Amino acid sequence: MDEYDLLVVGSANADLVIGVERRPAAGETVLGSDLAVHPGGKGANQAVAAARLGARTALLARVGDDAHGRLLLDAQRAAGVDPVGVLVGGAPTGVALITVDPSGDNSIVVSPGANGRLTPEDVRAAAGLFQASRVVSAQLEVPLETVVEAVRHLAPGSRFVLNPSPPRPLPRELLEACDPLIVNEHEAKVILAGADGSGADVGEDPQGWARALLALGPRSVVVTLGAEGALVAWPERVVRVPSVTVDAVDTTGAGDAFTAALACRLGAGASLQEAARYAARVGAVAVTRHGAQESYPTAAEVDAL
Ligand code: ATP
Repeated sequence: MDEYDLLVVGSANADLVIGVERRPAAGETVLGSDLAVHPGGKGANQAVAAARLGARTALLARVGDDAHGRLLLDAQRAAGVDPVGVLVGGAPTGVALITVDPSGDNSIVVSPGANGRLTPEDVRAAAGLFQASRVVSAQLEVPLETVVEAVRHLAPGSRFVLNPSPPRPLPRELLEACDPLIVNEHEAKVILAGADGSGADVGEDPQGWARALLALGPRSVVVTLGAEGALVAWPERVVRVPSVTVDAVDTTGAGDAFTAALACRLGAGASLQEAARYAARVGAVAVTRHGAQESYPTAAEVDAL
């Protein structure tokens, strides 16, 4: 038991980025910048963020037997993630094709590739990893049934953290395992609107979203609010966690840094409120730097903030 502070179950993508003067319309071809290839995907991002903070981290994911898969594995190893759970083959590595215009607006097409082939059977085969982990975190860029299977393998006394991104209505079994469920505004609205199938307007009050989400079954909820920090909510109370004022240059992957930092502080024994305060500092450092995995700080850099 406790070989890992954090096991991340999730996606690994190669982000293929081209800068363009103008994003193309239907049927149009535009010339862009040189291609940049970055390791990404929410699962891989979270694992790198946690390992850079010093957490003993493993990643359960699937990549293709190709150059993008090797790039992702190299990035995991370089950050200190144990790649024992990264399965190889079955489909090409997941890819995000990203065009960015000078104003920073982007268009993204994702091919899930191998991420879509991370199966409940892969989770069952990794049962030993679950038994060795104090905290398990997941997102929704891999099949929902795979994430549901993951919560069936949690070690006694361990904790499950979910960032439901991209958001969709969630089964009660998954919601009840979350401690916490971590959502931004968009994710909160999609999950709440879909919860009763009505698509009803859920209002604009983050405290209201937190309470309504708790009613769906999670033991705790964290709502991230960008520069405003976050709300931490339990059935009996809600507290606000402030952010740190910084000059933000790129918020890509800030949510992944926040979730990873929170999960690994929980793994180190912190309370949820302490973990969220620390995560807000980590998110603040991440937005002062470009990129996702490249922007994630070490523990010393967070302490220096
Ligand atoms: P993304 O989808 O862009 O990765 P997100 O929408 O899931 O992010 P945010 O709420 O934007 O998540 O950010 C997560 C956390 O990062 C925030 O709770 C906050 O602590 C920190 N953060 C984000 N933006 C800023 C900012 N401009 N200044 C300071 N901290 C920030």
